[in-house]
Amino acid sequence: CGIVGYIGNHDSKEVLLKGLEKLEYRGYDSAGIAVVNGKGVQVFKEKGRIADLRGIVDHNVLANTGIGHTRWATHGVPSQENAHPHQSNTGRYTLVHNGVIENYDQLKREYLQDVKLNSDTDTEIIVQLIELFSKNLSTEEAFRKTLKLLKGSYALALLDEEDKETIYVAKNKSPLLVGLGDAFNVVASDAMAMIQITDQYVELVDKEMVMVTKDQVIIKNLEGMVVERKPYTAELDA
Ligand code: GLU
Repeated sequence: CGIVGYIGNHDSKEVLLKGLEKLEYRGYDSAGIAVVNGKGVQVFKEKGRIADLRGIVDHNVLANTGIGHTRWATHGVPSQENAHPHQSNTGRYTLVHNGVIENYDQLKREYLQDVKLNSDTDTEIIVQLIELFSKNLSTEEAFRKTLKLLKGSYALALLDEEDKETIYVAKNKSPLLVGLGDAFNVVASDAMAMIQITDQYVELVDKEMVMVTKDQVIIKNLEGMVVERKPYTAELDA
């Protein structure tokens, strides 16, 4: 399983699909991407291989921002409905997740009694919580509030349809890196996925959140304080 993300001046689809192909070695049963442009967010997801996903992606859609996922099902069977990305009910938020949310059932009972759920995954709870909290909070704050409630492992990448210039990222006990480019930035579970386009990476630490734009990477702790971290050069064969 794995996660990728791209934000920059070029079309994101091919970068995401190529990145997912590089992560195939990690194993998966389904895959998907979400891209956002002036017309909004579009999700393409499918059970099976990246080649199957390629077949359903609308190659006429051009979008500079996107996230992608390969799934190793832990909660809910491998299916199109349970494949990532998952969306909140209004469609504002779109999320990919690797890992397991141990307290998803408790969070569902405590906060989401009145919310219709569209999959059997632990992941959907996260994106519905962010939308619920966003009624009174900014996306950044709603994301932090949600992260504080989660128990378990996660690598996350989130799109907000109302802010197409940012990918929100976080991790706990699952690997995730941010890669730095010239007028673009990327997100990946493994530097291998993006080594073709950058060798500069910033390591993420558990229980932080990161806001990635095409020319900035802002890391904060869950109290909202900015954290500084220098990039390193990944040495992999491209
Ligand atoms: N627990 C999530 C699911 O079953 C994510 C699995 C993964 O890491 O790919 O959908």
